[in-house]
Amino acid sequence: MSHPYIAYLRAHLPAMTDLLTKLVMAESFSADKAGVDAVGRLIADELRRRGAEVSTFPQPQTGDHVLGVLNRGAGRPILMLLHMDTVHPAGSAAARYKVEDGKLYGPGAFDMKASHVIALYAIQTLQALGQMPEREIRLLFTSDEEIGSLTSRPLIEAQARGAALVMVMEPALADGRLKSSRRGVGNFTLVAYGRAAHAGGGHERGINAIQEMAHHILAIQALTDYARGIATTVSLIKGGVASNVVPDRCEVQVDARANTQADAEWLSAQIYGLRPALPGARLEIGGGFERPPMECNAERLAIFERIKQIAEPILTLDHGPSGAGSDAAFTAPIAPTMDGLGAVGDGLHADDEHVILDSLVERAAMNALILRDW
Ligand SMILES: [Zn+2]
Repeated sequence: MSHPYIAYLRAHLPAMTDLLTKLVMAESFSADKAGVDAVGRLIADELRRRGAEVSTFPQPQTGDHVLGVLNRGAGRPILMLLHMDTVHPAGSAAARYKVEDGKLYGPGAFDMKASHVIALYAIQTLQALGQMPEREIRLLFTSDEEIGSLTSRPLIEAQARGAALVMVMEPALADGRLKSSRRGVGNFTLVAYGRAAHAGGGHERGINAIQEMAHHILAIQALTDYARGIATTVSLIKGGVASNVVPDRCEVQVDARANTQADAEWLSAQIYGLRPALPGARLEIGGGFERPPMECNAERLAIFERIKQIAEPILTLDHGPSGAGSDAAFTAPIAPTMDGLGAVGDGLHADDEHVILDSLVERAAMNALILRDW
């Protein structure tokens, strides 16, 4: 491929690899504020080096969010959305980091520190070749995506409002396919209350909260319907105080997934519709869908087709569904949104997480074209 963006980026692949190495070695587990803030400072420096106005949004518990803005006020903005946090607790980078067979391994390399490098070098390429578009570009780096985006959601929604396009820089699917749909993710908590009693002498007076919950566990699991894209998982359970006591409390956590908003609502209604099975037992239900589904509707397909056309000089794109949730679900109802624009790699959230280094060149060139031509 002889596109000038590819040539520029190929010459800069060693620098891109160095930056990715720095970002990976600065470990940034979601719960590790100091680690995420260290990545935030690296990002802020890189943004300023490219002429961006940088703002930080301080957070008491999680890392500070970082926003870079280029060409403020020019045209309808494009928002590039990235997260700095990873699912990997600190202490694993030294053992896992390596470059081998054209792949860079390390915690968070794929999800999504390679995306940071791709976004920054897409901008740098446009600047170096004199092709920056006359429009505002916002790069928002958040700190809590892996733990539900509780503090970043309002900021993400505010920055997406009025945007011509939201580029969600999550890792690509295998073969570089974009992510055209996201499953909705729900978290529910159920607590069953019974009556404690001695397991021998008082058995008949007891109401067993674990027995009560057993009915609901089976009912919730039975809501799973793969053909319809619904999956329910009773994922954590607590109950009982001692082996000779009828337990008076049992709590479970439920992870729920749905492909459509209608199914997410149906699933919530089913869970909230559960009623106590044992006489005298009580049931409390809480929670809901934290991330709505992003559906692959006609609007999404039209956005994909346009991106595919723009990217054609670099690569031929395809798209597919992702079983996980992302912040794309928050922006899709607000502005045109496409997900999966990050690197190609494998081992998402696993010990062997890695990216294909050549994909940094191709994806940065692709993102530069999208920024220029959307
Ligand atoms: Zn991610």
